[in-house]
Amino acid sequence: MLTVTNVTKKYKNFLANDNVSFSINDGEVGVLLGPNGAGKSTIIKSINGLLRYSGTIEINGIDNRSIEAKRQIGYVPEIPALYDTLTVAEHLEFIRRAYKVEDVKRADELLERFELLDKKKKMGKELSKGMQQKVSLCCALVHDPSVVIFDEPMVGLDPHAIKELKLLFSELKAEGKTVLISTHMIDTVEDYWDVANIMMGGRIAATKHNHSENSDEKSLDELFFEITEGTTKEA
Ligand code: ADP
Repeated sequence: MLTVTNVTKKYKNFLANDNVSFSINDGEVGVLLGPNGAGKSTIIKSINGLLRYSGTIEINGIDNRSIEAKRQIGYVPEIPALYDTLTVAEHLEFIRRAYKVEDVKRADELLERFELLDKKKKMGKELSKGMQQKVSLCCALVHDPSVVIFDEPMVGLDPHAIKELKLLFSELKAEGKTVLISTHMIDTVEDYWDVANIMMGGRIAATKHNHSENSDEKSLDELFFEITEGTTKEA
């Protein structure tokens, strides 16, 4: 479970996150939507303990900055940050050892899923952008985290990887994990979200639950465009 309570983040005098609160339960896929500059990456970085902020963020009830919480988080950043001179296999081995993961097969299973097994000996700097993104995905999952956070995960992936990633979202959900996906591309998340938070100007402008029993509610698409453009999108 991920709980974000009253998080405010300023870059000098600029308010990038203004009293942001939301939560995602176990077994739920939460999406964070919003146009560029809405403050999505800022809250994602705060959740991952990469920024100073005011407010509270808890991972399964534990402060996100503790080592215990960090063990439970998997983070796929928007821009992959691989080591130039470590091979693909070494990246995964590094993470495996850092997290003291006993299961040595998991890394290969992940590499196979994302069609990287034949790239095991390639160095970070020898990989295409899409391959780097896939290695970054594998690194975020090798320690079997219970809360997995994806920042713009589809950007730069090939169709096979997008299909695998969507399958992975539903598997994580079925395993009772907590998933948070940040994106500005609303059509990429249509199939599998449970709760959507729409950000605008550093704030959560609306929260919508999928499978809502109220059929009069606006669709996610309508709500998104109403908030971000001030009007309902024409059909
Ligand atoms: P999003 O991910 O929704 O596109 P960001 O969280 O990256 O939005 O950015 C929110 C706002 O904060 C933007 O106006 C951006 O220019 C600003 N911002 C982001 N990072 C910094 C930074 N390191 N220093 C100053 N301003 C920043």
